[in-house]
Amino acid sequence: MENIKNYIDGILTTPYNNNYFNNFDPSTGGVFTMIPDSGEEDVDLAVRSAEKAFPIWAATTVEERSELMMKVASMIRQRLEKFAHAESMDNGKPLWLARSVDIPRAIKNFEFFANAITQFSSESHITDSIAVNYTLRQPVGVVGAISPWNLPLYLFTWKVAPALAAGNCVIAKPSEVTPLTAYLLSEIFIDAGFPQGVFNVIHGHGHRAGKAIVSHPGIKAITFTGGTKTGKDIAAIAAPMFKKLSLELGGKNPTIIFADCNYEEMLETTVRSSFTNQGEICLCGSRILVEKSIYEKFRNDFVQKVKQLRVGDPLLEDSMIGAIVSKQHFDKIMYHISLAMNEGGNILCGGKAVNVPGRCSDGWFIAPTVIENLPSSCRTNQEEIFGPVVTLIPFETEDEAIEIANGTEYGLASILWTENLTRAHNMAALLRSGIVWINCWMLRDLRTPFGGVKNSGVGREGGLEALRFFTEPKNVCVKIK
Ligand code: NDP
Repeated sequence: MENIKNYIDGILTTPYNNNYFNNFDPSTGGVFTMIPDSGEEDVDLAVRSAEKAFPIWAATTVEERSELMMKVASMIRQRLEKFAHAESMDNGKPLWLARSVDIPRAIKNFEFFANAITQFSSESHITDSIAVNYTLRQPVGVVGAISPWNLPLYLFTWKVAPALAAGNCVIAKPSEVTPLTAYLLSEIFIDAGFPQGVFNVIHGHGHRAGKAIVSHPGIKAITFTGGTKTGKDIAAIAAPMFKKLSLELGGKNPTIIFADCNYEEMLETTVRSSFTNQGEICLCGSRILVEKSIYEKFRNDFVQKVKQLRVGDPLLEDSMIGAIVSKQHFDKIMYHISLAMNEGGNILCGGKAVNVPGRCSDGWFIAPTVIENLPSSCRTNQEEIFGPVVTLIPFETEDEAIEIANGTEYGLASILWTENLTRAHNMAALLRSGIVWINCWMLRDLRTPFGGVKNSGVGREGGLEALRFFTEPKNVCVKIK
């Protein structure tokens, strides 16, 4: 496969230093393409091009921007199979998952914001019939978007689409681990006839290319999704430069199961909410809190179902769990499993690497792992693992469940299973997280605010929140009397 290229000033280009590094297929452990090792010079070129393009792009009509974005969506749809294969090969996720979730959602992101911008309005205030104030919402300028490897194109476009719709020019960096679909997207921008400089993609390491984006004085806002530690580093650079910041960070989400839930639906969904995408979704439930009266039954039924999840070649339709995204992440998850054992955890299933014979014999696979017998305060129950590993924790009362659920530094999502309406609403208000799912998981409406509290992030994305982030509100006061 050809080397990946940056997309700067409307053309696909090699990095300034001409250096590249390896891109691995996690299902085979082999190198399949090379990634530009971009740095400050590449970012600076992109910013200069974006600054030139900005006044023209910002002056286009909403309809013009919307139409171009719809064109991008439709072109991704035409190449869906190519994108799905690229995503699966880059990330290790099952091909069927990339085909049915990741790529369709990337298409939807463009369509959603292409429509949303046509409905975007701002406030006005009449002041004692003396004056009219109206809020002029103008694009921020050149903005930076940095995204992670777990849902590569899905999260990349979740940032890029609202930024462009609002009239900004974008410098975007996908994760160095999964750059391929962002590269394919830049080809589509060329074919769709996007004006040069409006959208730029820089590939490379986070600590070089990513840092250069965050530090560049020409970039006025940063939208970042990734780990909490990286978010802290980014904020330390961007905050003193007074950049607008949206940070979507890590999680340690609780799934809280009461005895009065719809048991079959809960069981089915909890297997998915624990292990979809190898557990590498920021919204996966990684701590499963179960009411004591059904703890034993749940443990037995859950473990039986988890054991049936087939770990295998991502290209096969019956592989439910694919490969772990990188060797480094594989080692991190294996370390956490041994830590759990040292902390006294009882491994009910999994707990080990899986050898997938044939094509994938050198790939990085881990069996879905269920652990019990750990206090909620231990490291395994406090630190984000971000892999196919969950713990089971029994509880007796609502208060105890809330205390355990809220007892980490994170607050991204909570999942609650109960048929008791009063309890559901009371607990939803008490759970300290940005999202609460009641009797469901990953049921997404793109109009809703998305984000976390505590160390899971600052700000909200999604729907109008995203369009507000990517615009500056200016109050205009007109005296009318
Ligand atoms: P990282 O924080 O390691 O990386 C995220 C992105 O930031 C990558 O593009 C990375 O580049 C880049 N980056 C790394 N260091 C810097 C830096 N110093 N300056 C600027 N950019 C940098 O996260 P992961 O990719 O490992 O993703 C997993 C994490 O993402 C988990 O913690 C997960 O919870 C979180 N996440 C949160 C979501 C949310 O909505 N809250 C959704 C999905 C994931 P590179 O890869 O090249 O190093």
